[in-house]
Amino acid sequence: MTRANFKRVDLDRVYLPFVVVSLDVIARCMARGARYVATYGFRSLEEQGELRRLYLAGKGGKASAAGLSAHNYGLAFDFVCDGDARPGVQPDWRLPAYRVLGEEATKGGLVWGGRFGDAPHVQWPGYVSALQLTPLRTRVERESLASVWAQLDEERQSPRWRAANPKLAAELSRLGF
Ligand SMILES: [Zn+2]
Repeated sequence: MTRANFKRVDLDRVYLPFVVVSLDVIARCMARGARYVATYGFRSLEEQGELRRLYLAGKGGKASAAGLSAHNYGLAFDFVCDGDARPGVQPDWRLPAYRVLGEEATKGGLVWGGRFGDAPHVQWPGYVSALQLTPLRTRVERESLASVWAQLDEERQSPRWRAANPKLAAELSRLGF
C-alpha cells in the first residue's frame, strides 16, 4: 500500500487534502514503476530556523528562513526515489529519477519543486514564494496551524481558487473533498 511510502513522516501534521492527493500521486508513480518514499513533511519554525542557520554557516543544504517554507505549514513533502527492489530504501538522487514524480504531481495539480531546482519536493499550490508564505507565517504566529488550515479549507472552496486550480479541484472532488 502507498501508505507505507509515508511511514517516515507524521501525516497528522500535514494538511489532509494535500496528504490525500499526494497518496494518489505516489500510487500513480508506483503504477509506472517508480517508488518514492516521503522523507520530510511538516517542519516546525524552530527546525526550519536551525536548517537555515546551518545553511548560512555553510554546513547544510539550501534552506529557507523560518516560516518561508511550505513545510512549516504541512503543505509540502520531500521524497527520495527508491532505486531498486532490495529491502530498505536505496536512495537514487539523480535528477532523472524524479521525472515521474514531477509528471504525476503536476497532473494532480500540485507544484513540483523541480521547477525551482528542488526535484524531491512536492507542495500545495499558491504558497511557494516568500511573498505568498508570509501571510501564513503571520497567521501561525498570531493564531495556530489549525487556523492556517481552516483558511486554506475556505480558500479551496472558492470559485476563484477552483478556476485557478482546475486539476487539483478535480482531484479533490474525486477523492471526496
Ligand atoms: Zn521540500
